[in-house]
Amino acid sequence: MDNLSFTIAQALSWAREQFSFHSVSDDGLYDSAAIDSKVLLATCLHCEVIYLHTWPEKLLDKMQMKIFQEFVMQRSLGHPVAHIIGYRDFWSLRLKVSPATLIPRPETELLVEIALQLNLAEHSKVLDLGTGTGAIALALATENPQWMVTGLDKNTEAVALAQDNASMHKLERVKFIQSDWFSAVTQQQFDLIVTNPPYIENNNRYLNQGDVRFEPSSALISGMDGLDDIRLIISQSKYYLADNGWLVIEHGYQQSEQVSDVLKAHGFNKIRSETDLNGLPRVTLGSN
Ligand code: GLN
Repeated sequence: MDNLSFTIAQALSWAREQFSFHSVSDDGLYDSAAIDSKVLLATCLHCEVIYLHTWPEKLLDKMQMKIFQEFVMQRSLGHPVAHIIGYRDFWSLRLKVSPATLIPRPETELLVEIALQLNLAEHSKVLDLGTGTGAIALALATENPQWMVTGLDKNTEAVALAQDNASMHKLERVKFIQSDWFSAVTQQQFDLIVTNPPYIENNNRYLNQGDVRFEPSSALISGMDGLDDIRLIISQSKYYLADNGWLVIEHGYQQSEQVSDVLKAHGFNKIRSETDLNGLPRVTLGSN
């Protein structure tokens, strides 16, 4: 693309052609070229995506073109859109992201929904294990102003990022601590423990494709069968849950039976799995 003036429609169609690859998720391939182009262009123009549909004939100025070309180049090299624009929307929150953590995924909103439907008491104590950007902890806190929510992460950069996200949304009451799973947790009785831990098998081919190549493997990979961290979390959660407390776990789309079995083996009750928007079992929960 040379530096002649381009309309919004032309810029979008050019960008789509550059993205000849597909994005991948652990459950398959999907084509994100159209939406990626729109999000990148909307960011350059400081507008919402809907504006692009409303004003397809509008010309981009030189600076907008330059920034858009740079964004498109980065995306063509495989960089995740969220890293290029610096944020990802999750639940009702716009969250800063960085290469230090997992980029929040839409399927994780299912975990938030399930946790909210448990109808916990007004002053419940909640722990988010491996909080990353703080996505789950902050989404739960924003829906329940009285809950005492703590998020933890092994990675100090993630803790700082989550705190930043909390301040941005005036949710400073959510506490974020650095902890390797429960290593720094002193309080014992949580009513709810939620987690989106790493759960991908260490030799999964999917790790060499798409956006995950730019995310930390510590947030993705968990041993031969992907279940090392989930087993550890389930075995230790028992000591940190109040009576009738809930443990809610996101996992791989083929792991629900194994996760249920581990929960059963550790004496959890009311075990059930819920499916994500693709109809795949994605979250399993049990009560203490
Ligand atoms: N669902 C994520 C993916 O497929 C994996 C996240 C995780 O391991 N917690 O990329």
